[in-house]
Amino acid sequence: MLRLFERRTPPGPVAHIDVAHAGEVYRVALKRVATSQRFTLRVRAASRDVLLTMPERSSLRAAREFAERNAAWIGARLARLPQPVAFAAAAVTPLRGVDHTIVHRPGERGVVWTETGPAGPIICVTGEKPFIARRVADFLKREARKDLEAAVARHSKRLGAAPRRIALRDTASRWGSCSSTGSLNFSWRLILAPPEILDYLAAHEVAHIVHMNHSPMFWKVTRRLFPDTERAEAWLRVNGADLHRFGAEGA
Ligand SMILES: [Zn+2]
Repeated sequence: MLRLFERRTPPGPVAHIDVAHAGEVYRVALKRVATSQRFTLRVRAASRDVLLTMPERSSLRAAREFAERNAAWIGARLARLPQPVAFAAAAVTPLRGVDHTIVHRPGERGVVWTETGPAGPIICVTGEKPFIARRVADFLKREARKDLEAAVARHSKRLGAAPRRIALRDTASRWGSCSSTGSLNFSWRLILAPPEILDYLAAHEVAHIVHMNHSPMFWKVTRRLFPDTERAEAWLRVNGADLHRFGAEGA
């Protein structure tokens, strides 16, 4: 059976340790890698977490000691990450690549809509304050589905190959994927990016319906659907992690 999910993490149990330092506790995920010769620490911006890669035969105790020796470094790197932005009144979030300020309009009819305010584009939200975050998130997911369905339909028509279904996800590791059964999955956060980035991801995943790999044939089809593929990939490399700041739970 073909495995088709992109950028998947290798299988294997993932444990974690908690490292205390200067009044903070950092959770460090552990990953044993057969080919690894030494301990490697990474602070991942998209998921705002810490990963310790370790040789397969190393002990948990050695891993803990290594993490504790590097606790100050972990703290400094986490502190340097861009701050998460909760969906709340007065917060600014991108929508189709354009910054929008969230405005609470408790007394008005409707649920969520966009307007151009005196200081620029705004997202208006009715209802009570505790429901603002959920309403904005639901609105963005609806908009993401609308744009993705339209883009997928357009690319599918050109290619003569339609997906079985389209699903939205919120994964830190991938923007889209195509399963062997022809289901396309996308991150709803693509609605935060400029429209051409969402369009590129739609083209990329539709191309996977025909080529279930990243072969030269696959890239040829992708470029036929979306000629600016390199620029879109570069945009995601530079700006992709930043999209995970918005609407983060607990932000
Ligand atoms: Zn791909």
